Amino acid sequence: MTERTRIVLKSGKDQSLRRFHPWVFSGAIKKIHGPAREGSLVDLYDNKEEYLATGHYQDGSIAVRVLAFEPMETDELFWENKIADAWQLRVKLGLVDNPETNVFRWINAEGDGLPGLIIDYYAGTVVIQMHSIGMYHSLEMITSCLLKTAGAKIHTIYNKSNSTLPDKPGIKGRSGFLKGDGEHGEVLENGFRFNVDWVQGQKTGFFIDQRENRKMVGKWSAGRKVLNMFGYTGGFSIYGLGGSAELVHTVDSSGKAIDLTREHMEMNFPDDTRHEAFAEDAFRYMENIKNKYDLIILDPPAFAKHQRVLNNALQGYKRINQRALEQIAPGGILFTFSCSQAVSRENFRKSVFVAAANARRNVRILHQLSQPPDHPVSIYHPEGEYLKGLVLAVE
Ligand code: SAH
Repeated sequence: MTERTRIVLKSGKDQSLRRFHPWVFSGAIKKIHGPAREGSLVDLYDNKEEYLATGHYQDGSIAVRVLAFEPMETDELFWENKIADAWQLRVKLGLVDNPETNVFRWINAEGDGLPGLIIDYYAGTVVIQMHSIGMYHSLEMITSCLLKTAGAKIHTIYNKSNSTLPDKPGIKGRSGFLKGDGEHGEVLENGFRFNVDWVQGQKTGFFIDQRENRKMVGKWSAGRKVLNMFGYTGGFSIYGLGGSAELVHTVDSSGKAIDLTREHMEMNFPDDTRHEAFAEDAFRYMENIKNKYDLIILDPPAFAKHQRVLNNALQGYKRINQRALEQIAPGGILFTFSCSQAVSRENFRKSVFVAAANARRNVRILHQLSQPPDHPVSIYHPEGEYLKGLVLAVE
């Protein structure tokens, strides 16, 4: 067996690892002893040659994604433990064999100790999304451990890593079925029905992370006129109708998303005339909606995909929130979200604060929202808390 590659960090660059942060940036590396193979397992040392951690190497800004802070092997036992532990957490959360909800996140990357790996569960279909070459090399082992852990509850496995794996030579066959071949299927979330298309849909097919927040929208909807902006599958709209809204309007710039919303309406509330859907740009739609709505949901796509576009993103959040705050009816409730990892909770709240001041409305924060517990956040990796939301009462 060849000896494992050792990476020595520059002086002081060991500090974040000592605080269990799971990323090593390329700029922190002093010397690499041995071949730096894409996706291979490497050991990390401080500049006094003291062992720190073991992880997947990858040529790029994040050079090592840490899997353990003690010497280890990525053998079958490692994968089995991680995958079974994550499953047990979902069992404890009441998400497994739940008659009302059969869609949840099984592996949440750093939050489950497996940076670079996302696995979602859709009523018997498992969708794997890999973000690192290290995970790509372990796909077979991962798949076998998924089946070992919960085989009786899995009929389909789809690997959807085409758009998430970095472009590297020799990396092929990124998306495809590993078991079964169903391209879409019906799931239940809090008793509501959705048709999820994991092959064509955004991300792994559905925004599972809004489950609890959708429930809260349902609670606030009674007798209200609801605008669901950036609706995608119409998730928030379904809960709005379920919560006895007077009317619900869904807006998304994508015609496909609007078709999907209409399909979900038919599945849950056939022939209900309280709902309408519009394929339109959010900013344009909100030009002229003064006092038309008293509950607005803003759940835009990530405005900042990288730290370097942070300022533009914050401007974007300010603009869209200002428009909503200027026009929402008195006594209105605004649910506003950011799913950008690069935007901190504090920065998001500041953008909304400026929007409120510019709109000259009295605004109070009722709830501060986040992602549900099947999207756990490692306390050592605050970047994992990507979903932030505020529920605002607007006078
Ligand atoms: N709220 C959704 C998820 C939203 S994802 C849910 O609960 O599942 C973001 C959506 O915003 C995508 O469907 C995308 O088509 C839409 N979108 C992006 N830019 C837009 C724009 N300028 N105007 C309206 N919709 C937009």
